[in-house]
Amino acid sequence: MSETKSSPNHFIKNIIEQDLQDQKNDSRVHTRFPPEPNGYLHIGHAKSMCINFGLAKEYQGLCNLRFDDTNPTKEEEEFVQSIQEDVRWLGYSWDDRLFFASDYFETLYDFAKKLILAGKAYVDSSPPEEIRNMRGTLTAGGKESPFRNRSTEENLNLFARMRAGEFQEGEAVLRAKIDMNSPNINMRDPVIYRILKAEHHRTGNQWCIYPMYDYTHCISDALEGITHSLCTLEFEDHRPLYDWFLDQLQTEHHPQQIEFARLNLSYTVLSKRKLTELVQQKLVHGWNDPRMPTIAGLRRRGVTPQAIRLFCDMIGVAKADNLVDIAMLEYAIREDLNSRAQRRMAVLHPLKVTITNYPEAQEEMLEADNNPEDPNSGKRQIPFCRDLYIERDDFMETPPKNYFRLTPGQEVRFVHAYYITCTEVIKDASGNISEVLCTYDPETRGGWADNGRKVKGTIHWVSARHAGRVEVRLYDHLFTKENMDNLEDGKSYKDYLNPASEQILPEVLVEPSLRDAQPGSNFQFLRNGYFCADSRLSKPGHPVFNRTVGLKDSWSKKKG
Ligand code: ATP
Ligand code: MG
Repeated sequence: MSETKSSPNHFIKNIIEQDLQDQKNDSRVHTRFPPEPNGYLHIGHAKSMCINFGLAKEYQGLCNLRFDDTNPTKEEEEFVQSIQEDVRWLGYSWDDRLFFASDYFETLYDFAKKLILAGKAYVDSSPPEEIRNMRGTLTAGGKESPFRNRSTEENLNLFARMRAGEFQEGEAVLRAKIDMNSPNINMRDPVIYRILKAEHHRTGNQWCIYPMYDYTHCISDALEGITHSLCTLEFEDHRPLYDWFLDQLQTEHHPQQIEFARLNLSYTVLSKRKLTELVQQKLVHGWNDPRMPTIAGLRRRGVTPQAIRLFCDMIGVAKADNLVDIAMLEYAIREDLNSRAQRRMAVLHPLKVTITNYPEAQEEMLEADNNPEDPNSGKRQIPFCRDLYIERDDFMETPPKNYFRLTPGQEVRFVHAYYITCTEVIKDASGNISEVLCTYDPETRGGWADNGRKVKGTIHWVSARHAGRVEVRLYDHLFTKENMDNLEDGKSYKDYLNPASEQILPEVLVEPSLRDAQPGSNFQFLRNGYFCADSRLSKPGHPVFNRTVGLKDSWSKKKG
């Protein structure tokens, strides 16, 4: 995928283009990606990254990486590291513009004092529950706090004492003084500082008061000279507050907040709280479990950054929430891997085949394209001999009509090898097929007949003498319900965990060259899907393969 190609048009691009035309913001485009370091990034964050970093790139602007680290109780250094790794892996760079909201704590404190001096903020000593009750509801207005009209001096003094640690958690908060009767609850004197006697991953115990998200976010944006502050729809009702703070503080820059729909994906949860729970309760094998919708999980599964960016282009940017079909993500993955992944043969469920007219001592090397989609991918040699394995379901003793694979008396192509005919079926004591005997036509080397004789079926195989034995993991959706935001009454998302989401095949037979597969490398196993050598479990000479995605496309068909 070329980096110069522009993404499809959407309403945010229209806004930016108008701004550029009007020479707003000195014709700069400056965005930011603002994760909270309280979990690993997921495919929803990828959408946000593609929008923020993508737009900056497209308009020769800049995009900052900023950690919104205002909540010391849930944040960890591990997440700060993993997030940077994932942003880089997706192909984006923040150059030297790595920021932390916690770097602004002192400035944010000074700005809060400015608000107090302007009569726009006050310390409320009401108990938290009282403050909650006074906020009112969507239908009823709020009630003013008895502490709302404290003098500036008293407020300054109390705020300084909050910072000095003289109060316990919940004994006092700093609130903006706006309008307790505003129809928008966010404007009813929101809390801007709270006391939290918690250690912060960067500032340690330097602070015991922490600024709230709404207050921090707009000021951080303004300090960094952000022009377009792009966020998800749930912040739409917070926009008046975003603007209010910046208006009161008369900041040099006043970014424009623009909201877009968050990504919801079928059969998937993207809530960080739920993903954290899955990890902590060991319902998955960690944040990078290949079934997780995290960037780390997708990477381990074998998904490429190009596929994720293609998917983000495909889903577009809209203003209304919807549910994206996970088949669309799978389609993008296939599209990308088709041109990238080398072809190999692997037999997942083996059935023994003996070519009775092939000399026992003979072996030969057959040639095959590494990737017919890529003329530069070269060719490889595959060993062939009398003892082979095929997929169990590529053979039927008494087949239905239109079964074109191996069955007694019907000639099929063993891909890259020969035309083969089954002559006899061997069964074990309990009547199960244990082996099939076949003959080959030596005149069909490479899998083609000179005389134009055609076969209807083509199947894959491996040489039993040369095959590598590897572990393969097949995956299905982590959840069984299409819309995980619409559960039946009384049910939890955990009630929909798919017990068959991971299937381990301990001994799959593969072409010998796959024994040396490098961790992280992608392959197409003919007729079985795209696979990736696992970066955690593979050992030299003993790779473990994850199935990234099957070959069957269910999305373009649905699309019609
Ligand atoms: P939290 O509930 O912990 O705030 P969050 O999903 O909002 O979770 P953040 O770390 O705050 O996580 O998100 C960073 C950025 O990614 C934000 O701008 C947020 O709007 C965006 N983002 C998060 N989830 C999605 C999603 N599903 N689709 C699109 N953007 C998302
Ligand atoms: Mg958030």
